[in-house]
Amino acid sequence: RAKQRGRNTFHIFDPSQDRLLQVRHEQRERFIEALRNNELCLYYQPQVEMCSGRVVGVEALIRWQHPQEGLLAPGMFLPIIEATLLEVDLGEWVLEQAMLQQERWQAQGIHLPINVNISPTHLLVEDFSNRIQQLLERHASVPSGMLKLEVLETAAMHDIQAALATMSRCQELDVSFAIDDFGTGFSSLTHLRQLPVNLIKIDKSFVCDMLTDEDDMAIVESVIYMANRFKRPMLAEGVETLEHAKALVGLGCALAQGYGIARPMPADQLPQWLRNWPRREGWNSLSRRQVN
Ligand code: C2E
Ligand code: MG
Ligand code: MG
Ligand code: MG
Repeated sequence: RAKQRGRNTFHIFDPSQDRLLQVRHEQRERFIEALRNNELCLYYQPQVEMCSGRVVGVEALIRWQHPQEGLLAPGMFLPIIEATLLEVDLGEWVLEQAMLQQERWQAQGIHLPINVNISPTHLLVEDFSNRIQQLLERHASVPSGMLKLEVLETAAMHDIQAALATMSRCQELDVSFAIDDFGTGFSSLTHLRQLPVNLIKIDKSFVCDMLTDEDDMAIVESVIYMANRFKRPMLAEGVETLEHAKALVGLGCALAQGYGIARPMPADQLPQWLRNWPRREGWNSLSRRQVN
């Protein structure tokens, strides 16, 4: 068969490539259906201030409750829609769901900002800040400051002027930004200094291994040192143990998120977690003095 194809040099497409495109197309169609059928949902992971135990917010993380495959993490399906306009559709859906959840929590007396991940494609949509404004108007009962956005450093650096304009307009709406997965891209704090970023999130890959890998420790140390020099708050992702937390507080990082604190959970489990969290041994009494 390969031989046959080799002779037909005018056949510029490779049938296996063609098959791949078809699979991608089918996967995207299936994803659109999932979005329409409410098979997607948001999990929430708490973010805390380590020295006080204070819960400062939650991050919304998308999940796909697939009827056959079970609960799928974003790594399983976000690549299907990467760099397509479906990312915008998904992003709008996530923002809407987060605000609806925010209304429910406000009614229950839970007042925590929700951090929503925004894809580069979505952030750089021309009227992004208008869409955010309309979203806030649709949910006017939610106090301001309750929506925060997480963007990858790569998104911001791709078109820094456009990112700067959009982010500034959002900031005027009281929507602040975190730089996600900091340390994995090619930018540096010196570039990010230009952007209205209120929080730097140190990528979990460095944090997870910082206690066993000297290089990761060096990266974590330098990011914390620089962020403090630039007076930018930072949060460590991937805090899996109390030992991680102690080390981070000692280095001067105040905020954390990770399995050691809480796994991402369905919205209805959050109230109970909030009730139990203050009783967690060791976690609520970390002070810089103690651990140094
Ligand atoms: P992210 O924004 O960096 O989110 C943190 C990821 O780390 C989450 O993975 C979370 O479950 C995981 N994580 C939290 N604590 C720990 C820990 O202690 N150890 C380890 N090993 N992992 C931890 P998840 O939920 O699988 O999400 C993966 C990525 O998918 C996110 O990374 C984000 O980039 C993307 N994502 C998730 N939800 C959305 C969304 O609604 N929209 C967009 N555009 N992207 C999303
Ligand atoms: Mg994030
Ligand atoms: Mg991250
Ligand atoms: Mg990530």
